Amino acid sequence: MSLPPLRASSRLEDVRYEIRGPLARRALELEKAGYEVIKLNIGNPGAFGFRTPESMRVALVENLHKAEGYCASAKGIFPAREAVLMQQEQRGVLDVDHDAVFLGNGVSELILMCMRALLEPGDEVLVPSPDYPLWTASVVIHGGKVVHYPCRAQHGYVPDPDELAELVSERCKALVLINPNNPTGAVYPRGVLERLVRLAEERQLVIFSDEIYGEMTYAGAVFQPVAPLVQHTLCATFSGLSKIYRACGYRVGWVSFNGETAHAADYLAGLELLASLRLCPNVPGQWAVQTALGGQQSVRELVEPGGRLFESRRALLQRVAASPYLSCVAPAGAMYAFVGVDPQLLPDFDDARFALELLEEKHVLVAPGSSFNVLYRNHFRTTLLPEADQLDEVFGRIEALLAGQV
Ligand code: PLP
Repeated sequence: MSLPPLRASSRLEDVRYEIRGPLARRALELEKAGYEVIKLNIGNPGAFGFRTPESMRVALVENLHKAEGYCASAKGIFPAREAVLMQQEQRGVLDVDHDAVFLGNGVSELILMCMRALLEPGDEVLVPSPDYPLWTASVVIHGGKVVHYPCRAQHGYVPDPDELAELVSERCKALVLINPNNPTGAVYPRGVLERLVRLAEERQLVIFSDEIYGEMTYAGAVFQPVAPLVQHTLCATFSGLSKIYRACGYRVGWVSFNGETAHAADYLAGLELLASLRLCPNVPGQWAVQTALGGQQSVRELVEPGGRLFESRRALLQRVAASPYLSCVAPAGAMYAFVGVDPQLLPDFDDARFALELLEEKHVLVAPGSSFNVLYRNHFRTTLLPEADQLDEVFGRIEALLAGQV
């Protein structure tokens, strides 16, 4: 009997997440066939030997006996929410209410929930281009319209507030910021953030600030959280354990709201409803939050000279500087580099084809730049997580492939 095909919902038609798409599946096939593939497509610290700080593991294990049931509040356990609140207070954000902190199964779940609670069909959301593609997907999936604002290499991938202001329409509801940025590594200067906040306040845009790479900055770059700059609109700050605390498998993220929260009571109630529908976030992982936020920030050791991420970044930048084909804005933060290929030297270069060839011929997996919602096709993104000498090896293979294509 031939059955009619069971189709995925049409709502998913324009939803993209290529970081885990067909290329990654092909990499798995190659691995099954016995090849060793170097996978630089995902920022998964555990896959490169980074460990979660010991104190966080102990906090989780010692509280496991309290983590067997759903937690009392759908928003998360009290000590975790309290720790997020205290971190915000230390940053000078004094208007966060305990009730306006939500824990989630990673920032990923909260991004989807926050968009779902906000959007009517056709509502517009400003999202950076390039972006971390879940942000674009989260708008599309809920019937919203993404308005991409360009972040250009010639401006260090920092957005231009004047250009952004031109894109705000009557239907625009929210502004997404990713700072420090994935995939570009840009860290936004305070002055730019202040101008973006004023714009959001004037046009009553909700600010969604994805700060999951927070203190992960290099070479003197300073991370400025957005929340302390906001008063007259609703601001949502997202962060979690996945990156700075190298615990992405714990699946713990949080969002805290400040600014104009009183007029947003209905929205926050909607979010609470969604939080309740999923009953509660993963409980064991939440027990590590207080320890993570309260302790010494061990990420600093990784991003300073001699630290693993710093040295990998240095190796990559040296390779790019020595290459006739490649260019890159030195990442000031996060754990990726967005590398460009010279269109003059390689006019037929196509990022997706290149990524497939690199995988098939050199057994290296990178993410094509166009996966990050840009129109150009001459970039790729790699993580900085491998040891410096492995990145050096990878760039040797990339160089050899490109040389063969000239
Ligand atoms: N936001 C950004 C900018 C990311 O790069 C990632 C993961 O790579 C996430 C959110 C999702 O993180 P989580 O593991 O907390 O779901």
